[in-house]
Amino acid sequence: MDMEKTPLCLATNNAHKVEELQSLLGDAFEIKTLKDIGCLEEIEETGTTFRENSMIKAGYVFRKYGINTLADDSGLEVDALGGRPGVYSARYAGEPSDATANNLKLMSEMEGVTERSARFCTVITLILNGDTHAFDGEVSGRIKETFDGEVGFGYNPVFIPDGFEQTFHEMTFEQRSRLNHRGRAMEKVLKFLAKPGNMEAV
Ligand code: IMP
Repeated sequence: MDMEKTPLCLATNNAHKVEELQSLLGDAFEIKTLKDIGCLEEIEETGTTFRENSMIKAGYVFRKYGINTLADDSGLEVDALGGRPGVYSARYAGEPSDATANNLKLMSEMEGVTERSARFCTVITLILNGDTHAFDGEVSGRIKETFDGEVGFGYNPVFIPDGFEQTFHEMTFEQRSRLNHRGRAMEKVLKFLAKPGNMEAV
């Protein structure tokens, strides 16, 4: 007989993030999306840091729906722009969130700028059995000189991670999802879950 799996809600409406997080988590959990648990309302991200926003999202879902929850808040920090767009990455060019408009805005701000270093950052909050745990991850790189209008996830078409010549957009899903900020934070999540007692207590 199959062991019953522990339900875990991935508190994001972003299909790219669900796909990535699900593939990294493997099959230890019965994954639920926000839609699956009936959470159709928008969770307001009123924090000023990735950590605050990821805790707000996970905390909201856990309190209202009483399910183990994993949420991430992430974004791109560009050094020449003083760390912008940062926590405002999703709506950098305004409402509604539009990746092409965001990339075009970023490109125009970076025109003629030679210092192009940047990083993707995330904080993943896991609420397991009522206990809250936070894990961070980041990946450094640089902003490409040109944007050709490629449609992908967020800033992937203009971000080249250190040690590579391709953008995240040009990499395979497997390569990108292990290398990126969520992949690195998820390594810590998996290490935590593998510690004796942490999963068994669920
Ligand atoms: P959040 O859903 O509030 O965390 O918004 C994250 C935003 O940051 C996304 O909408 C993207 O614009 C950007 N972002 C976060 N992670 C990535 C990534 O892995 N690739 C490209 N853009 C990302």
